[in-house]
Amino acid sequence: MNAHRDLFDSERWRSAEIVSAQQEASRICSVLRDHGHIAYFAGGCVRDALLGRSPKDFDVATDAVPDRVREVFGRRKTLAFGASFGVIGVLPPKKADLATPTEVATFRSDGDYSDGRRPDEVHFGDAENDAQRRDFTVNGLFYDPGDKRIIDYVDGEADLKRGVLRTIGDPARRFDEDKLRMLRAVRFATTLDFSIDADTAASIREHAEEIRVVSAERIGTEMRRVIKSQHAADGLRLLVDLGLEPAVLPGIANGDLDALTRWLAKRDGGEFESSMALVLMAMDDTNQSTADVSQRWRLSNEETRRIRAATSLWHSIADAEDTAWSTLQPKLIDRDIEFAMRVASAVVIAEGRSAKGLDRCRDALAWERQKLDPPPLLTGDVLREHGFQPGPSFRDWLHSVRRRQLDGELESTEQAIEWVREISAGQ
Ligand code: ATP
Ligand code: MG
Repeated sequence: MNAHRDLFDSERWRSAEIVSAQQEASRICSVLRDHGHIAYFAGGCVRDALLGRSPKDFDVATDAVPDRVREVFGRRKTLAFGASFGVIGVLPPKKADLATPTEVATFRSDGDYSDGRRPDEVHFGDAENDAQRRDFTVNGLFYDPGDKRIIDYVDGEADLKRGVLRTIGDPARRFDEDKLRMLRAVRFATTLDFSIDADTAASIREHAEEIRVVSAERIGTEMRRVIKSQHAADGLRLLVDLGLEPAVLPGIANGDLDALTRWLAKRDGGEFESSMALVLMAMDDTNQSTADVSQRWRLSNEETRRIRAATSLWHSIADAEDTAWSTLQPKLIDRDIEFAMRVASAVVIAEGRSAKGLDRCRDALAWERQKLDPPPLLTGDVLREHGFQPGPSFRDWLHSVRRRQLDGELESTEQAIEWVREISAGQ
């Protein structure tokens, strides 16, 4: 066991918040140790730190049972998070600038799995049991902040060095226990840019069909992470290669992935909706696939709306150079225009197309609101005040006036009324 003196040198972490989270996890481990317990950092944070990445959060694992954790920190300073799984939330001290409790989980081994997702019962155990019940070797590491050592029961460090994702123990058994792990494998391989060990991959191919027992919410959670990843296109290739796509993203085919790879490479950051719009645009039936994914991944109405805006508007943006302003303007005032702009920009850049349409839109979007979307010269009320009888032509007149207003042909309400008088007289 090597000493890793600088591994958790918090100077390296991205945000002040994550530095505080680490200090709090260290404090908790040291309090537990002072009370005669073993307490380690566990799982994702150890993996990320060893990779030189900023952890997202710090989880603590200990031999203290949940009641003992509550006794040590005081009941009022703890929350019974997932009591049945032995997880207690420890609240940060008042003076700490940390908003969230730290998860402290008792070492455990999981009992039988009968539903393909969750163990029927858990048994508290020791650190080694706890490492063995975890999914992948690189997720099975502990770090002891007291003597600054990695504790590795599963050869996770070697896999981490090689960039290999491998189940802890027999892959067939581990995927049989919990089918979600198959999709977690894709997620971790994608976000970490790791390859999947051959036996682990072969086992996923064999069991891929069983991914159907996993809930839409869980599929959505994992797939959002894949799509947001810098390596999203590789992730989708992997999904297809492992045979998981019929239940997760039906309609995606290897043939779609080359264009998608080029587009995703040019996206501006890993924002979900515009990235997902690019994925759906690369697929054959974009509209149908959008409706399908929205259900299948339980997308929120807002996510779905943004994706639809992007897939339907990007073309008008890319080709905006010679479009009449009255045709372009209603698209630029769409509430989700920013997503469509990101999508259009990625495709235009990736395909080496002229950026003139994009530039025109970008310029217009920088105008003040009054210029981008001036109040209408005419409304139905104004027409009525001028003696026009409400009827089927009203809408058409208002629409035509609006177009002429935007294109600079009508400049005042008087001109607009005059124009309506002329065309209504001719009807
Ligand atoms: P992230 O950075 O995405 O949070 P993570 O490794 O912390 O990555 P979590 O889903 O937060 O992932 O889970 C925390 C740890 O719990 C994992 O590292 C793994 O050891 C274990 N774990 C989580 N889900 C499972 C599962 N389905 N089967 C076995 N072990 C799991
Ligand atoms: Mg985590």
